[in-house]
Amino acid sequence: MSAEPVLTVRDLRLWYGTPRGSVRAVDGVSLEIGAGQTLGLVGESGSGKSTLGRGILGLLPEGAKSDGEVLYKGRNLVGASHRELRRLRGPELGLIFQEPMTRLDPLMRIEDQFRETLEQHESKLTDAEIRRRSLDTLGRMGIPPTRFRQYPHEFSGGMRQRIMIALALVLRPSLLVADEPTTALDVIVEAQILRILADLKENFGTALLLITHNLGIVAEACDHVAVMYAGQIVEEGPARDVFAEPKHPYTRELLRSTISLDTRELHSIPGAPPNLITPPTGCHFHPRCPDIMRVCPAKDPIETRHDGDRRVLCWLHGPESEIPPGGGEPIERERIAVAEEA
Ligand code: SF4
Repeated sequence: MSAEPVLTVRDLRLWYGTPRGSVRAVDGVSLEIGAGQTLGLVGESGSGKSTLGRGILGLLPEGAKSDGEVLYKGRNLVGASHRELRRLRGPELGLIFQEPMTRLDPLMRIEDQFRETLEQHESKLTDAEIRRRSLDTLGRMGIPPTRFRQYPHEFSGGMRQRIMIALALVLRPSLLVADEPTTALDVIVEAQILRILADLKENFGTALLLITHNLGIVAEACDHVAVMYAGQIVEEGPARDVFAEPKHPYTRELLRSTISLDTRELHSIPGAPPNLITPPTGCHFHPRCPDIMRVCPAKDPIETRHDGDRRVLCWLHGPESEIPPGGGEPIERERIAVAEEA
């Protein structure tokens, strides 16, 4: 990652109360994104990806608690006031939602939605500048100027999604969180949106966190990938290296379950993601892991670094010593059957 990351997340924890107990949705996550870089965040539904994306932007549900650091250009956003977060959102921090209609006002023309967004954050722009900038951003998304005065319902789902991306980009944010931006869209629109996101790096130097369950999208659009399971990053590194040689059994299983033109047999990961109120002890993946060892349910794995810029949270990859750092019981690496612990 670059020397001066736009975003640095350190040991971030996010949790919220429910009648059945506290949900640890994000459990000690650290990551970095530099200017012009794209980090893909992948994992099954319920892994905590969306909560992490929203937590970074301070958009957590009422009552949610957070701990750790979210440094945006060096400023810690954890504990920042609502006022400051509102000021940063838009011109500095952008969010693309999965559902365009949650962001677009159905009663306002597209032109007025752009005007309102720009006037709110850049009050010195003239009418002509607002119009020029809006049309230029929409043009990049393939929306012609002739559609500028139309209402959201007059557009297809794919066009609405592109309009929403344009609304997030018109303020030229330094950091953009895109949460499943292509889900439910056809492959042609998906390809267009991926091209747009790739252009962002060159044209605006935006740091992009791309949340998706689609590994094909990550392979195409991302420099780095972080794999999330049960609120933790279990593997992170350059996308091409992680895909070529996954180190964590969960990453390997996720890749095996991805359908491609070469797929001969469908594979699915046995079991289901855990409940985050009472996650499994030790390594949270142990009830589903084909490589489970005696140590896995007994002790939390220790993150290890490999090849300079890769990290893995798994007992298979270290530490070298049989006694964990700080002492304690030896690490028992004897393999056991999944059924024994599941
Ligand atoms: Fe599997 Fe153990 Fe690694 Fe967890 S720590 S992924 S259970 S081998």
